[in-house]
Amino acid sequence: MSQPTRGGSQNAPAQPSDPSVAAHRACVESDRLMGAVDVPLGNWYPPNHSVSTSEPAAIPQDRRSKCAAMLAELRERHDRECPHCTAVSSHQRTVFGEGDPCARLMFVGEAPGETEDTLGRPFVGKAGRKLDEMIQAIGLRREDCYIANVLKSRPPDNRAPLPLEIERCSPYLVEQLLIIRPSVIMTLGGPATKMLMNTDVGIMKLRGEWSQWVAPLGSPIVSIPLMPTFHPAYLIRNYTIETRTQVWSDLKAVMHRLAESA
Ligand code: URA
Repeated sequence: MSQPTRGGSQNAPAQPSDPSVAAHRACVESDRLMGAVDVPLGNWYPPNHSVSTSEPAAIPQDRRSKCAAMLAELRERHDRECPHCTAVSSHQRTVFGEGDPCARLMFVGEAPGETEDTLGRPFVGKAGRKLDEMIQAIGLRREDCYIANVLKSRPPDNRAPLPLEIERCSPYLVEQLLIIRPSVIMTLGGPATKMLMNTDVGIMKLRGEWSQWVAPLGSPIVSIPLMPTFHPAYLIRNYTIETRTQVWSDLKAVMHRLAESA
């Protein structure tokens, strides 16, 4: 790990308590972990850093197969009967979601974009590449996680989902959550955060603070820790030290929570 390289110095390291150093360090760490290599490394990792979202060895194969079968059945039912997705015609494909059926970490975004609509897979365009970097940043692989959206079909012209669309399509997301039962949910952006937290408060106020997703009345009693963060598309549009530091801090909180609950 730790030969100082780009930007490294022969001098004694500056103290992390210096706010400008802390900001620079967060920036460098997020650059490295979100794709760049060959940068000075800090040692913020907890001693037992090796986190796996799904602890594959610990999950019996029959549970994984059962959850996979339930998700496949749900997907088929969704495509047949979702009152939103069967009513709209502006999309090419529904985008149900993908990943480990027993994932310990589940990401929830807003709705498919153009590339997702073409390929039928969530987060596979530009925002998806940023999400992949975010996942790698916490030492995981995309296939260890589960990735889904509030809406399963692309809104025309990528407009924001309408309340009625969310009301009609989101029960299938709830069912996905109840099948997968991740240890942690990370919401990406305002619509997913508002829907799962059942609030009108904006993402700027909510990000970075732990909350709980509580399954709606009439469902099994399930409550899952939820960390809201910015949508990767917002991060790309606002690629500032402040935003990267915030997203990186949210990711670290998730990583620590997964490590604690492993
Ligand atoms: N944005 C989202 O919210 N979801 C996707 O799947 C892709 C982009």
